This record gives sequence, structure tokens and C-alpha cells, in this order.
Amino acid sequence: FIIPEFQEFSKNIEEIYWKCKENTNGKVASYIPQLKRMSPDYWGVSIVTIDGQRFSLGDVNIPFTIQSCSKPLSYGIALDLLGADVVHTYVGQEPSGRNFNELILDHNKKPHNPMINAGAIIICSLLKTMYSPEMSSAEKFDFTMNFFERLAGNEDLGFNNAVFLSERECADRNYALGFYMKEHKCFPQHTKFGECMDFYFQCCSLEANCDLVSVMAATLANGGICPISEEKVLKPESVRDVLSLMHSCGMYDYSGQFAFKVGLPAKSGVSGAMLVVVPNVMGMCLYSPPLDALGNSCRGVQFCEELVKKFNFHRYDNL
Ligand code: GLN
Repeated sequence: FIIPEFQEFSKNIEEIYWKCKENTNGKVASYIPQLKRMSPDYWGVSIVTIDGQRFSLGDVNIPFTIQSCSKPLSYGIALDLLGADVVHTYVGQEPSGRNFNELILDHNKKPHNPMINAGAIIICSLLKTMYSPEMSSAEKFDFTMNFFERLAGNEDLGFNNAVFLSERECADRNYALGFYMKEHKCFPQHTKFGECMDFYFQCCSLEANCDLVSVMAATLANGGICPISEEKVLKPESVRDVLSLMHSCGMYDYSGQFAFKVGLPAKSGVSGAMLVVVPNVMGMCLYSPPLDALGNSCRGVQFCEELVKKFNFHRYDNL
């Protein structure tokens, strides 16, 4: 086994879990009522190793929308189907150093990276235009959702229509980003602007739980092969690129500090979910709605910081 003393390991995880449970910092996202309603007390931790050992604790079956945790996944699909060269003619690889929804492009007038809203909207437009033109919007959505489900070991994902409708209604900033990019010709040819924006909101509104997302993280940890279904879902070179950008850009404007202190590729979302990868070891999902000022789950970040104090998971621990 990749973690031989799994019982002992789980006991340590449990200790960290309870320690973080006491953390009552942060505020639940309130830009739409459907998120505001989530209990600040929810706290779940799920772990799946690359050889399929599992440990879950707390609120691991509560459904939540994956929000920005969808960004590395859609980026992964785009890489797999189009290759990195094509994808990166449309989007950069640089941390933006700004908020995730800031109205800003890089020096080449491209979005900085696929982990922030502007970049993720472009990835959605790429997915939309590269799927065969005979496919309807519904089929494109189904295809994408099915890809996400395969990453999760063929578990069923949900779709939260109320969140989707609210996202679309409260999306002035995302539309502004979209139009700003349209002005600068960032979109691939034949993009249907409105459909592309909807597709972005739909990806954010996919519903999962902590257990399910931890399997997705484990698939990334395992180079694209799902440890539960043993299906090869993504190419290893796609996963390498996904993890690289999660490492440098996955935690909003805390990404630099997170890379320094924790040293693991991760992606957070406004629902309070965090998808964390320990490459070649395991995937984790941490779920707790209260967010810090930068938009990351307070308990989630604390958990990661405690985890690397206890175990040498930081990328540069084993020198
Ligand atoms: N739906 C959110 C938005 O586009 C997702 C962003 C996030 O999770 N940070 O604003």
C-alpha cells in the first residue's frame, strides 16, 4: 500500500479534523441566496489514495455545487482533446495576482490562466466549439458532465438548477469579463457568446459531495487513471499541466502563499469546497462553507497547513 499504516494515518487525519472544526472564522458566500443558505457548521474531509484506500469524516454526503473546482476539470478535458499548444494560444499560465473575477487580461490580452473566471470562460468556449458541430448544447453538456463523472469513478453528479439560474442572474461581472474578452478577440471562432456563458454557469452548478470530489482528486493524483474504476480518463501529460496550474494559480490570490506553505496543487470554490492533490499518493476533498477574505475555505486551508506539519507531503519536503 502507498500508505502502509493507514489506520494510524487516519487517526492523525481525525485529530486534524477536530482541531479545524473549532475554527469558526470566515463567512459563507452570500452573492446568491442558494449559497448563503449553507450551514457554516458543515465540515467534511474525504481521502482516497491512488491504490483505493478511503477515509471520510464529517459532512461528506452533503451535496454542494462544485463552482470553481470545475475549472481544473474542464481545463483537463480541453487539454486532453485539443493538446496544450492549442489551448494555450487562448489562455496563459501566469498567476494574475488579482481577484478571481477581476476585469483584467495579461500583456497579450489573453486571460492569465484557466483557474480564474476569465480563463475558465475561455476554456468553456473552447470545449463548446471543439465538440462536433452536430452536437446540440444538451449533448455538449452531457458529454462534459459524463467526463466529470468518469473522473469521479462513474458516480452520478447532480445539477443544481436553482444555483444555475441565480448564477446567471447575478453575473454582471462575469458578463463584463466576457464582453471585455470579446472586445479583445479572445474567443475561438464560431463562439456563441450567450451559450458559452451559460455553459460556464452550468459547470459551476454541477453538484457533488465531498466523497465524490475526493475521487476526482485521486484520479489527478494517479496521473489520470481513476483508482476506483481503474479507467484511464485523462492523459498523464494533461494531468501534469492541470496540476502545475493548480499549484501556481488554484487558490485565488492566496496561491503563492499556499504553494509556499503547503506545497500541493489545490483548487478552491466559493461553495467552500477544496480539491487537493498529493501527487502519486492521494486525493482529498475538504468541504466547509465559511470563506476567508480571499475566497478560500477557512477550515480547508487550515487543514492543509496542519497536514503538512504532520506529514512530509509538501512538494519540497523530501530533499
Ligand atoms: N460561480 C462563481 C463565479 O463565477 C464561481 C467562482 C468561484 O468559485 N470562485 O463567480
